[in-house]
Amino acid sequence: MFTPGVTTSHTHGLLFVISGQALHVVRDARPMVPTGEAGTALYLGDLDGQPCFARVLGTEAPPEGSEPMPLRQLFGALADEEFAIATRALGLTAWEHDHAHCGRCGATTERSSSERLRSCITCGHGAYPRLSPAVIVLVEREGRCLLARNARTRMPFFSTLAGFVEVGETLEECVVREIREEASIEIADIRYFGSQPWPFSNSLMIGFTARWASGEVVPDPTEIMDAGWFAPDELPTVPPKLSIARELIDDFVRRHSLPRPE
Ligand SMILES: [Zn+2]
Repeated sequence: MFTPGVTTSHTHGLLFVISGQALHVVRDARPMVPTGEAGTALYLGDLDGQPCFARVLGTEAPPEGSEPMPLRQLFGALADEEFAIATRALGLTAWEHDHAHCGRCGATTERSSSERLRSCITCGHGAYPRLSPAVIVLVEREGRCLLARNARTRMPFFSTLAGFVEVGETLEECVVREIREEASIEIADIRYFGSQPWPFSNSLMIGFTARWASGEVVPDPTEIMDAGWFAPDELPTVPPKLSIARELIDDFVRRHSLPRPE
């Protein structure tokens, strides 16, 4: 079990060393997170009593015998808890890097010893880690679900629609606006599905399901290359298991699959 924390008396533990969007691992039968001296690394918490630290690969050498592997490739290869800690390491090292200087006066900031905070040594202004909430929605119409190919990322798969929450907007308003803007349809029966931290863009993805209410799909060409309604047995290529988009799609398929004969 992972217990998050901000201070420890330990100076040795699991080292989550980040370079870009890769984690340094020791390749064995399966990738292992190396252990070592924490030095100036950021304490994240304890995994089964073992302290976990994070740092970016900088002037200090990488842990002995380790090599970088893209974090996305480590999903399913690392233990789930280790992968989740690695996503914290990615998000929190990026936060430390981005907030090394005060956003108000420009002076240096330092780590707080009592909470996850960097505060300015001159004016005291504090910077907490920030997340960007984003909604992700599976819309259903008569046993088919709306999936689209994103025009910006140009990923080779169809996925559910998603977008960032704007200032002053409720999640429900965001769901309605995103679907209206990107597909020009109206929806009803918005229901919460689940959530997932997404460290690659510092997001918290908040998943919903909804039902088509009116309108025909007209994709916004700046956001969407192609979109359509897909039955569970004729799905296009969908995202890998790592994502909540895939969980939404798998849930849709489960709900619409006939029970198998015994
Ligand atoms: Zn300041």
